[in-house]
Amino acid sequence: MKSPLKPPFNPTAKTPTVTERPSFPVRLKPDTGVPSATKLVAASAYPERAVAINSLRNALPASAPGGVGPDSQALRARMLQKLAAQGVSDDHVLAAMGAVERHRFVDTALVNQAYEDTSLPIGLGQTISKPNVVARMLELLRQGCTGKLGRVLEIGTGCGYQAAVLSHLATEVYSIERLRGLHDKARENLRPLRLPNVHLLFGDGMIGFPKGAPYAAIIAAAGGEAIPAAWIEQLAVGGRLVAPLQTSNGAQALVLIEKTRLGVKQTLLEAVHFVPLKSGTS
Ligand code: SAH
Repeated sequence: MKSPLKPPFNPTAKTPTVTERPSFPVRLKPDTGVPSATKLVAASAYPERAVAINSLRNALPASAPGGVGPDSQALRARMLQKLAAQGVSDDHVLAAMGAVERHRFVDTALVNQAYEDTSLPIGLGQTISKPNVVARMLELLRQGCTGKLGRVLEIGTGCGYQAAVLSHLATEVYSIERLRGLHDKARENLRPLRLPNVHLLFGDGMIGFPKGAPYAAIIAAAGGEAIPAAWIEQLAVGGRLVAPLQTSNGAQALVLIEKTRLGVKQTLLEAVHFVPLKSGTS
């Protein structure tokens, strides 16, 4: 079987450039709108905290006019309850997902499905992952981390939803997209949120973003035949990488890579269905 860590890193290879645009100019107070994590624990897992999760409706940010309305708070609270019932137990992840209005990242026609556990089209043949998969990957990234992650690299900005969630979990988020149309769309979607720690990059994420390295965590929303060597290079010692990876039978599985002083440990996890990781830009 092909080693997932191939092809080997070639320092002499010509590397295409990644362009960084300035991040959003306005700074907000840290943790704006993030509800207390302890309120978000599943009622099913902790019946004694059932009352607390209901108070989430008040803790979530109010919807601005033009969204699905104030009801989106209730929809998000329900989405979180479902996630927790499905086994998502990291309060920080639940709080971050409760703080981001997913319906603002999908087309108007799909707004009603924004809080269902389903992947949705975001244009140019790409999809936003279903909430359960986003939560699972973020939990894997955060395992063993008690506070915020440091710098995080995301490959595949798409509509920008996961980058927004990550902005609550990491000190800095570098997110790369190879399709100009989606890079621009994410910029538009994220602008009103004014997240000063999210840096959107247009380029080929297969080469990572060396300027921001080393990363405490790397997350990919597109799956290839191998984990690019550049990602491993740019991962900090003690860092974690989560990505979909094509398996020998042509299916995809989630892979967790942990970089330690002793080496790189790779764990293959459950089957997933992500869009393909492609090289170059378009
Ligand atoms: N996290 C995204 C999901 C995007 S889907 C969200 O919340 O919306 C995966 C994205 O990966 C697609 O937009 C696709 O264009 C992008 N992609 C695929 N290969 C890539 C590469 N080499 N570099 C950067 N982005 C890539």
